[in-house]
Amino acid sequence: MDKPPDDTRFPVEGRCTCGALRYRMEAAPIIVHACHCRWCQRESGAAFALNAVVETSNLRLLQGTPEEVPLPSESGRGQRVMRCPHCRVALWSHYPGGGPEIAFVRVGTLDDPDAAPPDVHIYTASKQPWLALPADARAYAEFYDAKSVWSDAARARYLAAKAAAAPAAG
Ligand SMILES: [Zn+2]
Ligand SMILES: [Zn+2]
Repeated sequence: MDKPPDDTRFPVEGRCTCGALRYRMEAAPIIVHACHCRWCQRESGAAFALNAVVETSNLRLLQGTPEEVPLPSESGRGQRVMRCPHCRVALWSHYPGGGPEIAFVRVGTLDDPDAAPPDVHIYTASKQPWLALPADARAYAEFYDAKSVWSDAARARYLAAKAAAAPAAG
């Protein structure tokens, strides 16, 4: 990422549609993905999914308990979607790569979704053709090489979250 995330807009609260489930995202996202894959299009019913990647430890449940629903995913390894048990709106997902320590928050569920614009557009090979990306958008036909896209700070946050969750040695 060329610029650090806009920390000044966080924390930001979020909610499902019926309001039974409320959460707070304590920190700015590590990175925000706009995913144009067909799986995200089908799951969202929209042209792309907008996911803010953040440490699960930076998500505070304020009200309600999400229900975990396993779904297949493009990778074939599945994702675990955290949904409101009443209105079934999806709040965030965990993927096998990031594990339970890393959450992909549905940006549209934030009270201030404008706080998390996309850093990268991925799987643009299946981008719906009417959608024109900004000329300066970082876009990848499939996924990207994290080494060339993530800042050192972003990588450090990700690794710290994974290390904190690893079982203690011995
Ligand atoms: Zn709900
Ligand atoms: Zn996708």
